[in-house]
Amino acid sequence: MHSPTSIVIVGAGVAGVQAVETLRREGYEGALTVVDKAAEIPYDRPPLSKEFLAGTVTAEDIALRSPGHWNQWDVDLRLTVEATQIDPREHTLTTASGDVIAWDKVLLATGSTLRELKVPGITLDGVFYLKTLEDAARLRAALSEVQELVVVGAGFIGAEVASTCRKRGLHVTVLEMMKYPLAHILGEDLGHYFARLHEAHDVDLRTEESIVAVHGKTRVESVETSKGQTISCQAVVVGVGVMANTPILHEQLEVSRGYVVDAFGRTSLPGVFAAGDCTVWPYRGHMIHVEHWDHAVQHAKTIARNMLAEEMVPYDTVPYFWSDQYGNRYQYVGHAAKWSQTVTRGSQAEHRFTQMYLDEENRLLAALVANRPKDVMSLRRLIDARRPVDRMQLENEALSFTQL
Ligand SMILES: Cc1cc2nc3c(=O)[nH]c(=O)nc-3n(C[C@H](O)[C@H](O)[C@H](O)COP(=O)(O)OP(=O)(O)OC[C@H]3O[C@@H](n4cnc5c(N)ncnc54)[C@H](O)[C@@H]3O)c2cc1C
Repeated sequence: MHSPTSIVIVGAGVAGVQAVETLRREGYEGALTVVDKAAEIPYDRPPLSKEFLAGTVTAEDIALRSPGHWNQWDVDLRLTVEATQIDPREHTLTTASGDVIAWDKVLLATGSTLRELKVPGITLDGVFYLKTLEDAARLRAALSEVQELVVVGAGFIGAEVASTCRKRGLHVTVLEMMKYPLAHILGEDLGHYFARLHEAHDVDLRTEESIVAVHGKTRVESVETSKGQTISCQAVVVGVGVMANTPILHEQLEVSRGYVVDAFGRTSLPGVFAAGDCTVWPYRGHMIHVEHWDHAVQHAKTIARNMLAEEMVPYDTVPYFWSDQYGNRYQYVGHAAKWSQTVTRGSQAEHRFTQMYLDEENRLLAALVANRPKDVMSLRRLIDARRPVDRMQLENEALSFTQL
């Protein structure tokens, strides 16, 4: 494989920025172009629903790297530039304004895109989504006029917005279609726990209830629910999930719930790699899609190295994410679409526990760790080891996970 002399990265989210840093660290000295359709200097998204919305950090605080880094890396960073097409034969990328950029290798790091709600009134002023800095800044500015907020969806983003807004003193109602929040990821027991968590913070959580319309003359005044209820509010935040963003298509580029990549990050087009939220990738025999920060970073790091390497290394990192809600930190390590049994250490009542998910052969697949950060690293190693573990030992607080 010849060394590339021009690399183009599409998307300057955390995956794109990590790839830039890795390429330069690994000694790549060729041309490096990064295009992003956003206008802002690349920034971090997790604080948008937490500290930024709470007003405790500014836009400058959440920049992914300082302007100095961008200069030092000698990157042609092109903001407000949207990539639209790729030509694998000509080795070119075309932008919405018709510019053509040549490449030896491309990394697609186009992230995820919001699922939108389609109900009457959804375009009224006062309805917000939360994905970009601009979204968060608009929502934050609007909150000073809001006493009653409706959050649609009790997933991680919805729950964090509810938590931040309760702290700001707003009256918050959360509408969730499922019986328990997050039960599809964490199971009913923890779903029940998260329902009680909202209620303990005076959130009006309404489960098995969805939004059917937003009402208001010029801006939102209330929402109507599937149970025929009307909830008065001055703002609505929609958090009904995201899906992989795959804006650049080509007949030979395989897309299925995201850009399909192999363990080395290669797409079906030669010279075209993809990393982060926009991909579907192989993990333990399944093609999975992960929309979390740590995965975007680790994935991009490995794949950027592979873009330069004679001998590529497979990406095999155990996924990890965190969520901050009502002063608690929840960390999830592993991946369990289904499981046979769960084992818990600690106490849900005290919000300090670790719930582990095992398969039928007693191998640890994943764990949700509540306010016990020390457990995370050793659990990650146990998951990585893929060996059966003794259930009694897992339960036994006297044994540290490191000992296991
Ligand atoms: C509000 C919020 C809170 C979050 N909190 C957490 C958390 O607590 N923990 C956690 O683990 N994860 C969290 N996440 C998820 C995490 O931020 C994402 O997983 C991570 O940002 C993914 O990085 P990425 O680089 O793959 O994609 P993105 O960050 O989505 O970046 C993709 C970039 O590509 C650009 N782009 C897209 N299409 C084009 C195009 N055609 N041309 C040019 N540019 C394009 C976009 O403008 C964007 O800048 C949160 C996300 C949000 C929105």
